[in-house]
Amino acid sequence: MSYQIPFNKPYLTGKEAHYMYDAVYTGKISGNGKYTQLCQAFLKERYGFGKCLLTTSCTDALEMAAILINIQPGDEVIMPSYTFVSTANAFILRGAVIVFADSRKDHPGMDESSIEKLITPKTKAIVPVHYAGVACDMDLIMSLADKYNLFVIEDAAQAIDSFYTGKDGKKKALGSIGHLAAFSFHETKNIISGEGGMLAVNDPQFMARAEIIWEKGTNRSAFFRGEVDKYGWVDMGSSFLPSEIVAAFLWAQLENLDDIQKKRAEHWNVYHNQLKEWANKEKISLPGLPGFATNNAHMFFIVCSDLSQRTAIIDKLKQSGILAVFHYLSLHNSPFYKDKHDGRELPQTDHYSDCLLRLPMYYELTTKQIELITNTMMK
Ligand SMILES: *Cc1c(COP(=O)(O)O)cnc(C)c1O
Repeated sequence: MSYQIPFNKPYLTGKEAHYMYDAVYTGKISGNGKYTQLCQAFLKERYGFGKCLLTTSCTDALEMAAILINIQPGDEVIMPSYTFVSTANAFILRGAVIVFADSRKDHPGMDESSIEKLITPKTKAIVPVHYAGVACDMDLIMSLADKYNLFVIEDAAQAIDSFYTGKDGKKKALGSIGHLAAFSFHETKNIISGEGGMLAVNDPQFMARAEIIWEKGTNRSAFFRGEVDKYGWVDMGSSFLPSEIVAAFLWAQLENLDDIQKKRAEHWNVYHNQLKEWANKEKISLPGLPGFATNNAHMFFIVCSDLSQRTAIIDKLKQSGILAVFHYLSLHNSPFYKDKHDGRELPQTDHYSDCLLRLPMYYELTTKQIELITNTMMK
C-alpha cells in the first residue's frame, strides 16, 4: 500500500549525487579518503567528540565498542529493554549477558535511578540510549561508571545535534560524554547516508586500537600516515569503514545540518501545538523534556493510554492514507531473549511497547500536511 503521507521520506539536500560522482571519478572509492575525513573532522569539531570514525552503520559502531572494551563471555551489560535490537546484539555477539533496565515513567528513556541496583561484580558497561534524541541523565550514569569502574557507551543513534547540560552548567553534545558513542545515519534518522554510522571515541585509551579494529585488525591507517614502515595484522578487527561513496553522500547532508534541524524543529512544534489540548482531554501524553536535555526533533511520538486507543488512531490515520508506526517490542520479552532474561518485570517498557505511537516526521512535510494528520487523529 502506498500512503499519501508516508512515515518517513529520506531528504536529499541536492548535492549528494554530485559529491558521490566526485568520489567515484577522483578514483578513491574505498574508505577513509577525502569525504570520510571531511565528515569526521566536521563532527569532531562541531560537537567536541574525541576521535571520530565513520562506520557502515550504528550497529557496526556498537560492535566496535564491544570489541574495544574487551567484552568476554559472561560479562554483564546494562541497557534499556525499550531499544532497537542492535543495542543488545553488539554485546551478545561477544558473549555478554544483557541486564535490561526499565524505562522512565515520564519518558521512554532508561530509568537511570534503577541502574545501581542492577550492577554486580560482573558488570562491565552501561549503554544508555538517548531515545528520540533526548538525553539520559549522564551525570548520574558517569558517576556510577566511576564508582564501579564501568564503561559507558552511548547509543546516540537518534541523538545527533542534541545536548545535555550537567550539574556544572556546561552544555555537552550527546555522544561526547561516554567513553564511546555510536551514531546512525540510516535513512530514518535526521542526517542520513542510506546505511551509515559513526563511532565517537572519547576516551584516549581506545583511540589507537579503534582505528586498527576499524581497518580489519591492521595498522594500515598508521602506515599511510607514515608512522610505521610496514602494515600488518596487529589485532582482531573487521571491515567497519564505509566507502567514500557513502561518505560523500553524508557530506552533502552535514553541510545542510542546520537547515535540516531547523525544519524538523518547526514540524515538531506544529505537532505539539496542534495536539496538546486534545491530548490532555484524551489522557494521551506528549513527549516531555527533562531540564537537562534538548530536543533534536528526531521523532514526534505520543503515548496513548492503552493499546486499543493506539490501534484506533493508527486505523483512522491509515484510512486517510497516513502511516503512523509503533516500535520496540520489549527486548526482555522477545523470542530470542525471554528465556535468558532474569525474569524481572519491566512494566514501563511494556507500557511504551503497547502505547507509544510515532507520527510522520521528515523534512519535506508541510504545515498543511501536519494539520491534516493532527485533524485526522482528533476527528
Ligand atoms: C537506528 C538505531 C540503531 C541502529 O542503527 P543502524 O545505523 O541502522 O545500525 C541502534 N540503536 C538505536 C537506538 C537506533 O534508533
